[in-house]
Amino acid sequence: MIEECIFCKIIKGDVPAERVAETDELIAIKDINPKAPHHYLIIPKKHIVDLRSFQEEDMALGGKMFSLAQKISKDLGDIAFRLVISNGYDAGQRIDHLHMHFLAGRAFED
Ligand code: 5GP
Ligand code: ZN
Repeated sequence: MIEECIFCKIIKGDVPAERVAETDELIAIKDINPKAPHHYLIIPKKHIVDLRSFQEEDMALGGKMFSLAQKISKDLGDIAFRLVISNGYDAGQRIDHLHMHFLAGRAFED
């Protein structure tokens, strides 16, 4: 049996996480180790490792991830936010299931 990654387990409900939003293709959860007052992870339900392995058929997901970030911001009163996607270990990615960090609620450097 192939070992599932932690985000796949969260998506299946086998590992608990605080969900802040969900669509048929995405979930947004609170980061367990928040770097900002609002730190959410927008995660495709499909196990895609990173943007390097994104396929043509996955491209629409990118827009849907932006759309969910926009909705989360709107729900917080149109709050300013930063989005971060790390692709590969050397770029800081520690979980090999594509995810976009939504960070808001504090000032960020330029
Ligand atoms: P990366 O460094 O791969 O871009 O980000 C992984 C993020 O996932 C980190 O910010 C880390 O705090 C978060 N994280 C790791 N394990 C869990 C978990 O089990 N639950 C939640 N909610 N977040 C996690
Ligand atoms: Zn996964």
